[in-house]
Amino acid sequence: MTYFNLEKDSLPTEISCDICIVGSGAAGIAIASRFVNYKLKVLLMESGEFKPVRETQNLYDLHNIGYPIRQDFMSRARYHGGTTNIWLGRSMMLSRIDFIDRNWVSDSGWPFGYNEILNYYNKAVKLLKLPKKENFQVNKWFSGMNKYEKLINYEQNICLNASIWGVRPFNFRREYFSTFKTSRYLDVYLNSNLVKITLNENKKHISKVDFTSLNGNSLVVKPKICVLACGGLENPRLLLNSRHQINCGLGNENDLVGRYYSDHPRSIMGTIELNRNSRLPLFVGYPFSDGKIQLGIQFSEDTQKSDKLLNNYLSLEPVVPDIVEESYDSIIRLGKRFFRRGYSDKRLNFSTSIAHIPEIIYYLTPKELLPHKLYSFIFPFLKYSKSLSGSYKLRVANYCEQAPNSNSRVFLGKDKCRLGLNKIILDWRVGQDEKRNVLKLQSFVESCLRKNNIGKLCRNSSDIKFTDASHHIGTTRMSHDSKKGVVDSNCKIHNIDNLYIAGSSVFPTAGHANPTLTIVALSLKLADEIKRTFGLV
Ligand SMILES: Cc1cc2nc3c(=O)[nH]c(=O)nc-3n(C[C@H](O)[C@H](O)[C@H](O)COP(=O)(O)OP(=O)(O)OC[C@H]3O[C@@H](n4cnc5c(N)ncnc54)[C@H](O)[C@@H]3O)c2cc1C
Repeated sequence: MTYFNLEKDSLPTEISCDICIVGSGAAGIAIASRFVNYKLKVLLMESGEFKPVRETQNLYDLHNIGYPIRQDFMSRARYHGGTTNIWLGRSMMLSRIDFIDRNWVSDSGWPFGYNEILNYYNKAVKLLKLPKKENFQVNKWFSGMNKYEKLINYEQNICLNASIWGVRPFNFRREYFSTFKTSRYLDVYLNSNLVKITLNENKKHISKVDFTSLNGNSLVVKPKICVLACGGLENPRLLLNSRHQINCGLGNENDLVGRYYSDHPRSIMGTIELNRNSRLPLFVGYPFSDGKIQLGIQFSEDTQKSDKLLNNYLSLEPVVPDIVEESYDSIIRLGKRFFRRGYSDKRLNFSTSIAHIPEIIYYLTPKELLPHKLYSFIFPFLKYSKSLSGSYKLRVANYCEQAPNSNSRVFLGKDKCRLGLNKIILDWRVGQDEKRNVLKLQSFVESCLRKNNIGKLCRNSSDIKFTDASHHIGTTRMSHDSKKGVVDSNCKIHNIDNLYIAGSSVFPTAGHANPTLTIVALSLKLADEIKRTFGLV
């Protein structure tokens, strides 16, 4: 028996271990998966259970004072498997340029180069059961591109990128259940909420970590190494709340914890009307035997450098007639009623208004929602969507990189959650830079479409409204320099020798790519680093 429940099982009050991983989402489970066969005592501590429970989910409540985020939207899932219980599986790699110190983007640059993460991307792709890494290279798709797609590919100021899906979104909880259950060395503790981290006397080493269940049971863990893997909003919250020994919280001597918060602001704005014979099937989501690809359009590296731009991209979704969209909306709402009762009815707030349809298209596009085989079946119809819509129209979804901004941040408010931890206040900043970059990319695409006689990009207005994308990035950023980052290039907190952070909170810059593939790659890199400290590699 390797699954324990702090709320229900009778357990010792104190346990010593080699590694204590807190949080069993993508990051925590990816790390734990690397230790199942080593003779190290590893504890994977998880706040929730196997299924969502409203009281546990409420521990995530926060107050937003910054740029509006979606109301009543479940952007994190607090139970075993974490947010990958509800993610959509879209996987992208960061670009090479994301890792360099760009002199036009202040506080940019990672403490290691792109080549160092490539090997881990390879391993992450395997772990997530995605189609082979080569599929992420646009060149791989060149021979399958039609002449219009090739013309866009040749354009000077822009280049193409690839989003890849597996046959279904990888669910960490389900995929690792039997491995963890039969593991001799790894134990999973459910209903175990981290509430306090205590340092030893010299304040450079963690001596114990306190866990509590909602019904008041407690457990003290004394680890040799501790990894916080609780997500990009909760990691900083836990560090800031641990201030019984150091007033400003752990790792926060330079007031960096919680700062530099970024997401990928996105906006559904603009429609592409294709000319009579033009088609862009690879741009709307193309199924192949073990997955799907969708090409997107981003600024080329040279243009980013010469025009001082951020790493934005846009992707395209077929427009279908209102009647189809309305029925689609109704089906989704009906499905939610039946399958996502209870607390999960908060997951998405579909109003009946047709104005919300583009949101639905982004979040629940057929390629992400439908089983792979079914999508492959309906794809030929989508490909020739003219018969549905009466025209060749594609909707433009714009995704932004945000320049690091220390004023965009999370910090502790006065209100407390049921466990006595201060809730966070989110002050997400989105400004003119994001808008400027969206319009610039659209102008390049527009001129490419016209010049090559592919079609035209139409906009009703240049007023852009963004929404968040549930990507919580940057709040415990990575740097060689302890004055500029909370963790070092090994994800270890500067000045604490056994506390590590996993997840997108360590990204110093966010690029435009959905974060989970990079979260997993970095987690595997961290697992190797931990193995080194135990002399295992
Ligand atoms: C609807 C939706 C769709 C998405 N689609 C995509 C996509 O297509 N592609 C993509 O790349 N990303 C996507 N994302 C984002 C992606 O899901 C997250 O970036 C990723 O899951 C984060 O992994 P994580 O392990 O860092 O955090 P999480 O998965 O959030 O895991 C954190 C874990 O820590 C636990 N925990 C929290 N606090 C405590 C505590 N105090 N004590 C103990 N345990 C604790 C939680 O219960 C949870 O299990 C999507 C997100 C949402 C909401």
